[in-house]
Amino acid sequence: MKQRETTRTIQIGPLQMGGDNKVYIQSMTNTYTKDVAATVKQIQTLERAGCEIIRVAVLDKEDAQAIKEIKKQISIPIVADIHFDYRLALESIKSGVDKIRLNPGNIPKREHVKKVVQACKEKKIPIRIGVNSGSLPNRAEPTVALMIETAKHHVDILESLDFYDIALSLKATDMNLMIETYREAAKVFPYPLHLGVTEAGTAFTGGIKSAMGIGILLYEGIGNTIRVSLTDNPVLEIQAAKEILKNLGLKDKVPNLISCPTCGRIQFNMIDIAKKVEAYLLKVNKNINVAIMGCLVNGPGEAKHADIGIAGGGGTAALFRKGEIIKKVKESEIYDELIKEIDNFDDSIYDKKEAS
Ligand code: SF4
Repeated sequence: MKQRETTRTIQIGPLQMGGDNKVYIQSMTNTYTKDVAATVKQIQTLERAGCEIIRVAVLDKEDAQAIKEIKKQISIPIVADIHFDYRLALESIKSGVDKIRLNPGNIPKREHVKKVVQACKEKKIPIRIGVNSGSLPNRAEPTVALMIETAKHHVDILESLDFYDIALSLKATDMNLMIETYREAAKVFPYPLHLGVTEAGTAFTGGIKSAMGIGILLYEGIGNTIRVSLTDNPVLEIQAAKEILKNLGLKDKVPNLISCPTCGRIQFNMIDIAKKVEAYLLKVNKNINVAIMGCLVNGPGEAKHADIGIAGGGGTAALFRKGEIIKKVKESEIYDELIKEIDNFDDSIYDKKEAS
């Protein structure tokens, strides 16, 4: 993996983004922001799943004012997503928002942009400029050059007001366009990049597209925060984002499930157990490799790097650690035994490895 590109840094509440800071996971609520109870509930669920920054849509004054109450009940930074109306940006800033998503070129009067910039400067709030392949000026056909030019137009406005606390996103639906545009943006702009594939689709297709686009860029050292956009429960966005980061070595304390693809040698109904264990692991914050293997003959050997694993063996199954069988268990007890081992596993061995 390439060394990470260094960018300017921005401050989002307690988090510093860009430079050599970690890559943050973010998502967006799909509740009505003015419905404080529902929005807080969703944000708290996302926080527990691993969300580090949350964005809410601000459509009117009530939404902007709701941010104040929402902020009291959550512990991650909150971003106001605003289209066109500078007054909503000012109101959100008054409510204590940590970041604004707004394209200054969409605000017709410069004096209004100035007001927003001034308020952001006073509170040290950054602005994300979001260019989207589907909403380029005059509905033009998206190209890399046009995406960059559009972003530059917005960036120039902020820079002309001596404002540099900027993050940028240049999302596209087309994978090649998305990757090429971000690569170019990393060369042209010194600002932190928010990566995402727009209109990616439902959990399965959208998850694959996002893993490809976001994963390729992160591998190249590009990107400071990611959002996996899915037409589904946003909790799945967090789970997908964690998988992407974990598999690139950019996220710690996320378990890894190893499971064989199954074949004619399979000796127990492992697909259901693998799914159940995978669901359980979503709540575990540890470095641990867990293996579920279909047969005893090949399973422990094929998964010998697993910290704990199970391999089926006709009525009974074998629990193994690092390829060595430690115990035989009844098929009906596989899940419970495995969970017990996962809960008891001390992952400090990985801390020592990292420290050395
Ligand atoms: S572990 Fe056994 S069942 Fe699973 S793929 Fe390998 S040989 Fe087949």
